[in-house]
Amino acid sequence: MCVQKRWVRKVITMREGIHPQYYQATVTCNCGNTFVTGSTRKEIHVEVCSKCHPFYTGTQRTAAAKGRIDKFNRKYGVKTEN
Ligand SMILES: [Zn+2]
Repeated sequence: MCVQKRWVRKVITMREGIHPQYYQATVTCNCGNTFVTGSTRKEIHVEVCSKCHPFYTGTQRTAAAKGRIDKFNRKYGVKTEN
């Protein structure tokens, strides 16, 4: 009971003006998948997500690498097979 009262007091005295705005952020992946999460940014773009990462799909090199990964592969001549 005593512990609970102390916790409530802490919440009430939370400092104002020092916390960033918290949004319902929409995450967009290169594979086209989108999902919603909480973040201090409204929109997030990612290169790989749980829908296209080989670890979750169980297959290798299925996701068409775009952006930085693709750039790296082209630069160093890494062949990507589907
Ligand atoms: Zn994805």
